[in-house]
Amino acid sequence: MPELPEVEIVARSLAAQVLQHKITAIEKLDWERMVETPDLATFRATLPDRCILAIGRRAKWLLMTLDAGWTLALHLRMSGNLTVQAAEAMPDIYTHLVLALDDGRRIFFQDQRKFGRVRLLDPVGLAALHASLGPEPLDTQFAINDLAQLLARRNARLKPLLLNQAIIAGLGNIYVDEALWYAHLHPLRAASSLDPDEVERLYYAIRTVLQQGIQNHGSTLRTYRNSYGEPGNNQEHFAVYDRKQQPCPRCGTPIKRILVAQRGTHFCPVCQPDPSALPITVENNR
Ligand SMILES: [Zn+2]
Repeated sequence: MPELPEVEIVARSLAAQVLQHKITAIEKLDWERMVETPDLATFRATLPDRCILAIGRRAKWLLMTLDAGWTLALHLRMSGNLTVQAAEAMPDIYTHLVLALDDGRRIFFQDQRKFGRVRLLDPVGLAALHASLGPEPLDTQFAINDLAQLLARRNARLKPLLLNQAIIAGLGNIYVDEALWYAHLHPLRAASSLDPDEVERLYYAIRTVLQQGIQNHGSTLRTYRNSYGEPGNNQEHFAVYDRKQQPCPRCGTPIKRILVAQRGTHFCPVCQPDPSALPITVENNR
């Protein structure tokens, strides 16, 4: 599912195509639960005639800055795709939101699983969204000491902690597994147990895997595409994610997959030593 690098790529590819264009109409909205706020009547009344001034990203949210102080925030969740389509393109049954642009092109929000969400936010709502999210790991202001403070005094294990968007923004299952492998850290290590060297390794590992993800145009496992409809190729560079039983790129040991907080978690049992004999749920061999 799209994480920080994928949403960043969608934001950039969308910005390259639709900046300074006006949204003239909501042509299709057939899955009304995707609109979380405001109420549907206000959403339908406010979005048309808004000009797209900027497109950015916060955590895994794509933020479309509109005129009159509005921001359209879109979350792709499991299977969402945002693409720019020619005037003659026909939306399929999985395309639940179609925004018409002033030059005839349309923006399609396609989402097979229907977990994707949209919010039309005023400045207060946008500030609340920002406040609900942890720091951006690629922000130039984000320093090793900031990560150290996020981890200190927390007994949570690294995997669920790093997935928590309120702690640190943008990481999901793929990039947490990859970062922990780069940092030689077991996913079940307690956050507060890391020494300063380990914190520094994790800091650079997180930034490295995210930057590589962006450089490789994101990871396409199933549905992810950029807004031109093109897949990424970062999945060809995974060290551990989705590589159960395949050799660790560093030591050749078969990669293990366990469940941590209901999430499939991949690691090298040699490079990432088990912190203890704490009980873990080993997934059935399916
Ligand atoms: Zn290894």
